[in-house]
Amino acid sequence: MSEFTLIPTHRGEHYLFYEHQLSYKVKPKNPFTGITSWRCRRYHDENVKCKALLKATDDRVISQSNNHENHEKVKQTETIMMSAKQDVKNMVSGTRGPVKRISEETICKMIDQNSLTLRDVSNFVPKYKNCEKT
Ligand SMILES: [Zn+2]
Repeated sequence: MSEFTLIPTHRGEHYLFYEHQLSYKVKPKNPFTGITSWRCRRYHDENVKCKALLKATDDRVISQSNNHENHEKVKQTETIMMSAKQDVKNMVSGTRGPVKRISEETICKMIDQNSLTLRDVSNFVPKYKNCEKT
């Protein structure tokens, strides 16, 4: 088992991104074992009810119970855009600056850092068009 990425969601929570699937924290980390349990985010989806459950330490997934149902995979690009949107929200709430400009700057930065194409990005931010890729 191996490393995962944490994707910020709302209110300081995170999704755990692992093998192209997103999971949410079931309960806080066990202070004795240092292990956190994460459940597939499609568990609550009536049509899916995915029962995949992961156990992870702070930096590694150590076990998985139940395989994912046959539901869609999540692209890394999508998680990058989720992070970008969250960054924008955080910045907007801490500033009086123009929202549009902040959001464009953040997304441009994401594109540069992750070598994304504008096409990747426009899948997730349909209105997005103002970033000139060099
Ligand atoms: Zn699943």
